[in-house]
Amino acid sequence: MLRDAQCIFCRIVAVELPAAVVYEDDVVVAFLDINPLADGHLLIVPREHLAQLTELSADKCGRLFSCVPKLGRALLNVTGAAGFNVLVNSGQVAGQVVPHVHLHLIPRVAADDLGYRWHAKHYAPNRAPELAGAFQQALARF
Ligand code: 5GP
Ligand code: ZN
Repeated sequence: MLRDAQCIFCRIVAVELPAAVVYEDDVVVAFLDINPLADGHLLIVPREHLAQLTELSADKCGRLFSCVPKLGRALLNVTGAAGFNVLVNSGQVAGQVVPHVHLHLIPRVAADDLGYRWHAKHYAPNRAPELAGAFQQALARF
């Protein structure tokens, strides 16, 4: 199993660094984010040091996401939040700081100040079918 001795999350997984762990099994560990966007903000990480979602096998990715319903129910129950966001920052440009793949579960309540800039755009004519075709061709290769 891949491990990076310098990686904060690998060190948490190895219990070399402290963390408020809420769940663990043979594939994943979930713990409180040290700088939460809201009380109860969770991180779910694979034990293996893989930087991005695209490096995970479908099985390992499934195991990572399969924790979400149960941890989400616990999060809602413990925090009293009305909902939560599941967020993956994949790549530096997307805001990823720790290069060990992780899901954020971020508790949300009405009128909290956590917001997205969500400036939706429109496709030019023919662009959507052109893109869909490119995806279908790419998917045949990956
Ligand atoms: P990213 O921006 O990579 O998606 O998020 C990394 C997250 O890891 C941040 O929300 C940050 O607060 C959290 N984090 C960074 N270092 C530590 C740490 O040592 N312990 C814990 N529990 N969380 C950390
Ligand atoms: Zn790591």
